[in-house]
Amino acid sequence: MTSRLNRRGFLTAVPCAVAVTALAPGTAGASTGTADMELVVLAAQLDPVKADTGITTGAGASVRLVETALADLGYLARQYVDGHFGTSTRSAYARWQAHLGYTGLAANGLPGRTSLTTLASGRFQVTRLITPGARTTYQGFPFNARTVAMLHEAERLAGRRFVVEQGSYSPGNDPTSAGTHDGGGAVDIDAEALTTAQRTAVVTALRRVGFAAWLRSPSQGQWPWHFHAIAVNDTDLSTPAQDQVGDYYLGRNGLADNGPDNGPKVPKVTWEGYLRATA
Ligand SMILES: [Zn+2]
Repeated sequence: MTSRLNRRGFLTAVPCAVAVTALAPGTAGASTGTADMELVVLAAQLDPVKADTGITTGAGASVRLVETALADLGYLARQYVDGHFGTSTRSAYARWQAHLGYTGLAANGLPGRTSLTTLASGRFQVTRLITPGARTTYQGFPFNARTVAMLHEAERLAGRRFVVEQGSYSPGNDPTSAGTHDGGGAVDIDAEALTTAQRTAVVTALRRVGFAAWLRSPSQGQWPWHFHAIAVNDTDLSTPAQDQVGDYYLGRNGLADNGPDNGPKVPKVTWEGYLRATA
């Protein structure tokens, strides 16, 4: 189920009454089913911003396994076990992460590799595991290895080197970014010196490798021309960045006005999907 209300309210609620015995393999009965982590994480970005309880294409069975485990552990009301990774499921998953000892961004309800495989232990299998990789820097800004690899490939496709203006993991760095750069997967790139055609080429390249990317103009906010991009399926995304990925998939601009996406039409992919398609 979904509700745009109290999106952050769950951060104050950290019940942790679940017995650790639930983690022991085999104690939850036979392990049945397979959850695709790429699809679960994609649904966790797309479903909360939907106005209805629509299921992300192909993700329903995987999400249902996650939701069933959360319900079995007492974190999710059974009525929300529906294959739709909405705000109730996100809140429940955040409580599971808090139970594991995670705090802050690591307990924002977006499944990560360790929390998901721990939840699955003895319950179901997890395939297509994803990780943001090690923390690093690029042009002096903080990033994770996955985002840097994506930027390198987008630069190659665009045929130009980008000038980074803001990286990831930068809480409170820029009030105009509304928290989208607090976690991983976020980047701002300079666009002021580029022609219209060059700007379109850069947005296209960013989208092709799996960024939710937009060209931002001075008329849209208190900022110079730049590209704002969020790496789809980065498990370190902040909640606002997560919601922007959802907006991107729904054809919106990712801004407060919820306007239409005015960027180039590019098939929406993840970095892992791009790598498989180009291998
Ligand atoms: Zn930005």
